[in-house]
Amino acid sequence: MIRVLVVEDDPQLVRALKINLQARRYEVQAAGTGADALRLAAARRPDVILLDLGLPDMDGAEVIRNLRGWSRAPILVLSARQTSEEKVRALDAGADDYVTKPFSMDELLARLRAATRRQKAPAASRTNEVSVVTTDEFSIDLVAKRARRGERTVRLTPTEWHLLEILITHPGQLITQSQLLLEVWGPTYGENTNYLRVYMAQLRRKLEADPSHPRYLITEPGMGYRFEP
Ligand code: CA
Repeated sequence: MIRVLVVEDDPQLVRALKINLQARRYEVQAAGTGADALRLAAARRPDVILLDLGLPDMDGAEVIRNLRGWSRAPILVLSARQTSEEKVRALDAGADDYVTKPFSMDELLARLRAATRRQKAPAASRTNEVSVVTTDEFSIDLVAKRARRGERTVRLTPTEWHLLEILITHPGQLITQSQLLLEVWGPTYGENTNYLRVYMAQLRRKLEADPSHPRYLITEPGMGYRFEP
């Protein structure tokens, strides 16, 4: 049974989440404050954490940083905030994904399943296990460092390759702009989101059937990018 810690101060939402999650055989614990969340997470070691960013006692990003000090459980952020800044802060602090309120229960459950699937296959071994990622449009051989569309080899620059590799080894996961900039360009390029736009456009031109309506390399406006397998 997968243990979920729900951190949320809205009792109606907690109730709805409990009913829906328990009906799908999740074991649910609930905390209404950041302090309770940290205490329960340490005591019960949940498999996955749903975290509201607007808590009465603590900033959501602070809760995430604290959890990340000792826990690798996936954190799925529930956010009512209109601005992407808050969500980006949460993701950069170590959250795995987010759902914007109001969300549909189906969407939440899908994100929850994706987060727990990823947890079962840690990043390091995933790269070793899956050496070729194949979609209907292209295939990427991570070991041979070869990209193909049908019979045709696609030439990628080292920077394009690096960017693509990060995205496709985290299928379905939102990777923030600053994570990508840090990983590919290094710590002094944190603000250069225009680099990402340029290189993502190039990757789409090379890999997508309709680059202006990408099917696989998805932009989350103001936040980051996602490889949708
Ligand atoms: Ca709240």
